[in-house]
Amino acid sequence: MLKVNEIDVFYGNIQALKGVSLEVNEGEIVTLIGANGAGKSTLLKTLSGLIKPKSGSIEYLGSSISGKQAQSIVKAGISHVPEGRRVFANMSVEENLELGAYLRKNKNEIRKDFEKVYSLFPRLHERRKQLSGTLSGGEQQMLAMGRAIMAKPKLLLLDEPSMGLAPLIVKTIFQIIEEINRDGTTILLVEQNANMALSVANRAYVIETGSVVVSGSAAELQASEEIKKAYLGGL
Ligand code: ATP
Repeated sequence: MLKVNEIDVFYGNIQALKGVSLEVNEGEIVTLIGANGAGKSTLLKTLSGLIKPKSGSIEYLGSSISGKQAQSIVKAGISHVPEGRRVFANMSVEENLELGAYLRKNKNEIRKDFEKVYSLFPRLHERRKQLSGTLSGGEQQMLAMGRAIMAKPKLLLLDEPSMGLAPLIVKTIFQIIEEINRDGTTILLVEQNANMALSVANRAYVIETGSVVVSGSAAELQASEEIKKAYLGGL
């Protein structure tokens, strides 16, 4: 579904991604794990067209998307839930969700997706008239995910959904990630919480200072002594 081939990304003179290659197959949950500053968010921003790679190629459903505008990438079916959620604080839950569907025209389908989001996140339905800025961190994460689903993605890019959330909420969010995937959406999940990410993923890539250093099935990585020491708290 997605093939990233040897991409290099720079911020001015600083090289944030160095020849990164990875693949995501339809139906998978693939996770990208790595420390702070490794380049995980940069990769997602590049995939969604917010940053242009200097070299390399990105192929999605058989066509090149490198260098395309963010809007046409969303239209092609890639939605990005950014780090730190970024919901519109002065708008209601419902208005935020409506914005997620702004490129779509079919009112009937949009209404069905509202129902889908509210059934995945009953809490958002309860709070649909509430200003988003007054939601808890976990609820804002749900809203950011719900907003992305309103764009009807085939591929969902999630940037650190667990960040700053209490363990119980993290568990709920990860259960919902699995449910969204079972429903037919392919997921690329960026996480610092490697334990949680590997527990839901099919495959994983480890990124260190801009390069992919290890890749394999999630089970292989969970069993690897090196990965345990470096990313799983030595458990
Ligand atoms: P985090 O979880 O902290 O976001 P990350 O793995 O997602 O970490 P990136 O945010 O992709 O890492 O950052 C990769 C590198 O690029 C870091 O060295 C970071 O300092 C640098 N960087 C990120 N954004 C910018 C920017 N706008 N301008 C300059 N350098 C940046």
